[in-house]
Amino acid sequence: MMISNALVQLADNIWIFPHDPNPGRVQPNVGIITTPNHTILVDAGNSPRHARRIMIALDEIEAPPVSYVIYTHSHWDHVFGGMVFDSTTVAQELCRKQVSEMASRPWSNGYIQEEIMRNPSREASLQAMSTVIDDWRNFRIVQPQLVFSRVMRLYPDDMLIEIEHVGGLHAPDSAVVRIPQARTLFLGDCFYPPPMHLRKEGDMLNQPMMRMLVRDDLDIYVDGHGDPMTRDEFLKLANGEGNPVKTTE
Ligand SMILES: [Zn+2]
Repeated sequence: MMISNALVQLADNIWIFPHDPNPGRVQPNVGIITTPNHTILVDAGNSPRHARRIMIALDEIEAPPVSYVIYTHSHWDHVFGGMVFDSTTVAQELCRKQVSEMASRPWSNGYIQEEIMRNPSREASLQAMSTVIDDWRNFRIVQPQLVFSRVMRLYPDDMLIEIEHVGGLHAPDSAVVRIPQARTLFLGDCFYPPPMHLRKEGDMLNQPMMRMLVRDDLDIYVDGHGDPMTRDEFLKLANGEGNPVKTTE
């Protein structure tokens, strides 16, 4: 199976390291914002290996050093690459709480097998985790250092990056990241139904939330596990047309 190791440019100063369409790998899009002196990542990748591939791709476009990593929410596939980046990690306060709870666990392949026995419905997600993380001994979860409750604005080199807590059923800590100058919105997984192991029959995309997030000044909509969308495509999905994304996390 072909996996992409190249960045895809979406606008001036905006890129993604694209998601892996194989749901078994649970590899989300990672957003990249560049300014003259800083690179800002939206999510950290699902593993140190994923994050290192992103670092190589950043080198190829001669991106400035990574100054900030923003976690859109605390699910492992958006957080577990964090240790590769020597930067400040930004997150909503509930996300920080959940990440520090995860960091207190004795991660190892043995621990994952025990977790599967305790929670059989999480098997797919946890198996994916043990596939993408090959070295637990040197593994470390990076906890957010810069925390906000409702909105945070960063101005690296005067470019506005606005992070807003939106919550939702997928993850109550979900935040979205707006870059008005690039007319881009990174959504993480905020409008998805709950993760597979918590999903009930009838759970669907959070269409009212999606419609609330559409704005005339935003043209590019990037969710966690799908292809980037135009405003029209995102609106169609919000109105019940188009194919919802499949993901376990
Ligand atoms: Zn998620």
